[in-house]
Amino acid sequence: MSENEEQVIRRCCVFSGSSPGARPEYRAAASALGEALLEEGIGLVYGGASVGLMGVTADVVLAGGGEVIGVIPEALQAHGVAHEGLSELRVVGSMHARKREMAELADTFVALPGGLGTFEELLEILTWAQLGDHAKPCAALDVCGYFQKLAGLLDQAVSERFLKPVHRDLLIMGSEPRALLAAILKAPRVSAGKWLDRTST
Ligand code: AMP
Repeated sequence: MSENEEQVIRRCCVFSGSSPGARPEYRAAASALGEALLEEGIGLVYGGASVGLMGVTADVVLAGGGEVIGVIPEALQAHGVAHEGLSELRVVGSMHARKREMAELADTFVALPGGLGTFEELLEILTWAQLGDHAKPCAALDVCGYFQKLAGLLDQAVSERFLKPVHRDLLIMGSEPRALLAAILKAPRVSAGKWLDRTST
């Protein structure tokens, strides 16, 4: 792929809070991301619930006629949180199976504000990129500076030499959904061999 060539992104996996959060800006951003996906003709893959910020993005994409695939573990479905109106709901056996399935279905990953589940999903998908398991862009939508402390923690990991700058740079960050999607579309896909190079200091 040349530097200016855009990637083909058919589906974006969104990780986000199962709660709506304290600020109206979070809901607004979840909704704006849904609009941006619709504009680009990109389908949504997500955790399959109707609740929280997750549900907001799904509702916007569905209302605009976009494709929304939810992947939910049996245990969560049994709690009745599954969204009833999705293009497709895949019920899987475990949280681990869910994350693997979402990773395979999507061409890129975007985290919105959220709690432990969101942090875990974002860091895991970055770890899989670091290992060369995939070369799909990973991003965080930094609404109201929500991810600044995580960015600081990653920078600290670099300065303390637990994380290579090239792996730190795997996380694309932006505060505006359309600009973030544009950065994702332009992001180069880096080969696994580069990630696995442990010889440099
Ligand atoms: P959290 O940030 O802790 O609210 O967790 C949200 C993330 O974990 C989402 O991206 C989902 O993939 C997953 N998750 C947590 N709770 C649920 C739920 N009730 N239904 C579906 N997925 C959930």
